[in-house]
Amino acid sequence: MNTITIMTGDITQLAVEAIVNAANASLMGGGGVDGAIHRAGGPTILEECRNIRQTVYPAGLPSGEAVVTGAGKLPARLVIHTAGPIYHSDPDPAGNLARCYRRCLQLAHAHGVKSVAFPGISTGVYGFPKEAAARIAIETIRTFFAEQPEADLSVTLVAFSAADEKILQGCL
Ligand code: ADP
Repeated sequence: MNTITIMTGDITQLAVEAIVNAANASLMGGGGVDGAIHRAGGPTILEECRNIRQTVYPAGLPSGEAVVTGAGKLPARLVIHTAGPIYHSDPDPAGNLARCYRRCLQLAHAHGVKSVAFPGISTGVYGFPKEAAARIAIETIRTFFAEQPEADLSVTLVAFSAADEKILQGCL
């Protein structure tokens, strides 16, 4: 069965098969959840990201795209890195945020993943309004579920504060 669950917590600690990283175009780490994932997962994740940059995306990961690496020391098996839109400068922030969720779900499904956790992509330093982002996230996940009823995917949306969890719950 395909399901959406909302919780508050640190995504790096979740025992799901894949976690999504709200990365940036460089794939070279950063602050926020990106920094937390690289710190907790150890150096192998960055090595794999560097390799992806050299081979597949020399100019950087475009907004709305996603790539998969191993998860190093994290409880998860895979990290799906996506470049969220920078709200105030991206040409199509809503469209690219939806593309982020969709690409991550497609990659999770393609890798045989049955449980995946998302942080609030672009809702930190990238400045996407949280309620609008939550609506896009949930609508995109539901559309994917309708298209792939056999995916059997358990999706967790991870808030990093009680206030953010409330926003997500209100959009479910
Ligand atoms: P972006 O650059 O895409 O905005 P940020 O990392 O700045 O990415 O923030 C994305 C969201 O992730 C924010 O809502 C932030 O509160 C949340 N966040 C930060 N650290 C963690 C964590 N360890 N686990 C879950 N969510 C986190």
